[in-house]
Amino acid sequence: MIQLYIPLNFLGVIYREIKQSLADMERLFSLLDQNREVADAPDAKALHTQGAQVRFSHVDFSYESKRQILFDVDFTIAAGTTTAVVGHSGSGKSTLSRLLYRFYEVNQGAITIDGQDLRAITQDSLRHAIGIVPQDTVLFNDTIEYNIAYGKPGSSKEDIVAAAKAASIHDFIASLPDGYATMVGERGLKLSGGEKQRVAIARTLLKNPAILIFDEATSALDSKAEQAIQAQLKEIAKHRTTMVIAHRLSTVVDAEQIIVLDHGRIVERGTHQSLLAADGLYAQMWQRQQAKVEEEVE
Ligand code: ADP
Ligand code: MG
Repeated sequence: MIQLYIPLNFLGVIYREIKQSLADMERLFSLLDQNREVADAPDAKALHTQGAQVRFSHVDFSYESKRQILFDVDFTIAAGTTTAVVGHSGSGKSTLSRLLYRFYEVNQGAITIDGQDLRAITQDSLRHAIGIVPQDTVLFNDTIEYNIAYGKPGSSKEDIVAAAKAASIHDFIASLPDGYATMVGERGLKLSGGEKQRVAIARTLLKNPAILIFDEATSALDSKAEQAIQAQLKEIAKHRTTMVIAHRLSTVVDAEQIIVLDHGRIVERGTHQSLLAADGLYAQMWQRQQAKVEEEVE
């Protein structure tokens, strides 16, 4: 208990400080999750994107020296396209997104964006270029307006409302007695999983990044809410380089490329159709999920 208490308390302090200084969302993640060894190279340059092609080149990775997590992971996300990553729990999907965000350094190989090695660019510029819609959105104990504006501090009210509209959360906000000034979070109005995710989408729209990462929510959404959010995600992924970590295969059907991870290795890749035809792990997962969906409908 004591062990649990101290770090939580410590995080509370960091959390408040960040909120004061209005650092951006990703700074919060990086503080909570950081590996102190990841630092800017002395001659690090700002990232310049032109379409933002993302490339993982023969990447090996381990969090701890004893246990390797990724093995020779090699793929390219062409500029402006969507790649979905699927695989069983623990196969290394979220690790890919953490590496792209450079929370950790690869052990072997390289990750590049438009040919620029992540190790040669500043973390600030990297994190500016990437928007994350996480599995669980952190809401601050502040107004809903503040929470959306967090995607881009200093945004005008007009832009905030436009982002909320695009994320289909404006009508909900407008219906609240205090509107955009409504307090949310632990000590305010509790939002549902779907509403929080829409706030995250609005934040991301405001940020307007070249690269998007979605770590899909597995729970908290009924299928109707999920469909609505899928449609939105698809809309904001248009013309952006996107990595979707997919728990439900129904959401990856349209991806230009699907990568199947198994115990840290890419075991299959292709489109939905080609992977079904290959009749391997993906086809198995698909069949199992279809069976489940039918069960639920009955
Ligand atoms: P997925 O998203 O596919 O479920 P992850 O990428 O989160 O899988 O995790 C891959 C493996 O790495 C798992 O075995 C997990 O236990 C391990 N892992 C994840 N994060 C850490 C960490 N911070 N330290 C050590 N091991 C980790
Ligand atoms: Mg994961």
